[in-house]
Amino acid sequence: MTQTYRSIRGMHDILPGDIATWQRLESVVRDVLAQYGFREIRTPLLERTEVFTRAIGQATDVVEKEMYTFDDRNGDSLSLRPEGTAGVVRAALQNGLLYAAPERLWYRGPMFRHERPQKGRTRQFHQVGAEVFGAEGPDVDAELLAMGERIWARLGLDDVRLELNSLGNAEERVAYRESLVTYMARHEDALDEDSRSRLQRNPLRILDSKIPEVQALLAEAPKMTDFLGEASRAHFDGLREHLARLGIAYTLNPRLVRGLDYYCHAVFEWVTDDLGAQGTICAGGRYDGLVELQGGKPWPATGFAMGLERLVALMELVGVTGDESLHGYVVMAGERAKAEGMALAERLRDQVPGLNLVCNAGQGSFKSQFKRADRSGAALALVLGEDEVGSRTVAVKFLREDGEQITLDWDRAAAWFSDWLERRAA
Ligand code: ATP
Ligand code: MG
Repeated sequence: MTQTYRSIRGMHDILPGDIATWQRLESVVRDVLAQYGFREIRTPLLERTEVFTRAIGQATDVVEKEMYTFDDRNGDSLSLRPEGTAGVVRAALQNGLLYAAPERLWYRGPMFRHERPQKGRTRQFHQVGAEVFGAEGPDVDAELLAMGERIWARLGLDDVRLELNSLGNAEERVAYRESLVTYMARHEDALDEDSRSRLQRNPLRILDSKIPEVQALLAEAPKMTDFLGEASRAHFDGLREHLARLGIAYTLNPRLVRGLDYYCHAVFEWVTDDLGAQGTICAGGRYDGLVELQGGKPWPATGFAMGLERLVALMELVGVTGDESLHGYVVMAGERAKAEGMALAERLRDQVPGLNLVCNAGQGSFKSQFKRADRSGAALALVLGEDEVGSRTVAVKFLREDGEQITLDWDRAAAWFSDWLERRAA
């Protein structure tokens, strides 16, 4: 026997049984983003490698260890996108979108990072991200957070909290970095190898360390917010005032930094305790330097990206999954019933928008067709045998809920199914 293939490690199929939850998530996200005037943009999965290395920064995990990079047949170095922002900035500049700034854009789709696969961490994963270009904030930063909170609320996810920090501007970060390095160097013995290497190359990333000894050290370490100058502090205070007015709760987390180099001022994460170690479902912040770094004018920018796998896992845990929406399975015995049944199904699809019907494929005894109806997950069986065809009726049998079988005239069936759908939605 020929061996069958398996998907690549860390890259998963999203199976039909889970798709309703994905679709519910995607449709809520799309609706809420539209409510705030965000426009969708779709960029290629592949970009020149520099698009990412320049934007994300060399001394980051993503660029150093996680990118899928290869030379194509022309010898150009290309990479699968590890995140969405760099490509969106490239596209916005290439297509002159920023002249209409402020421009609110969003994207969705798969991202690729060669990390160690574990719960909540895969090599292909999906993000939805939102970006605002050409607005200095902090009003738009607050709007991004209001939008996030609205999405969680619409999904029925109550147990999500917001953590907030400010990274100030580049100079303030330099001053802070020096003081952090001085402090950490005094305690170098307590640092693991990874943190020591970060201390040399990207010390702020130490704040991110999950190692208990390092975390203990960090409790006493200097805090970024103590290094903010007047303008940065005003920006951060402004954001906090907006959040207070909007009634958005948060906690300040002085250790919150983002993995990507281009962040400044407000950075944030939406976190849940229900998913274990991989509890960040959405992360973002301001990245005023990035557009200029990518060759554009110094447009200010701010945004976030949410991880859809983690959100789906949370939705499943909380029990706010999507609706499996197959409504009816049409069981037809005999050639005439088959023809009439398919015609009836077509009429119902015309007349009852949102009604999802599957017609039994091929032939089969009543018994085997009912088995398939049951396996299909449909709520109802629509049954046509010779008697029904003779009287121009269809029998409706409830497969999941209690209810007496009923018989409907063909020309009254549409009205009954419309009512049934409405009752179900209520
Ligand atoms: P982490 O600290 O968990 O590695 P990150 O800082 O690398 O996260 P971002 O680049 O900010 O993550 O991506 C935003 C969101 O995308 C994350 O908060 C998470 O929900 C999701 N995400 C990132 N990497 C992965 C992955 N490998 N698998 C699944 N989801 C991911
Ligand atoms: Mg990461």
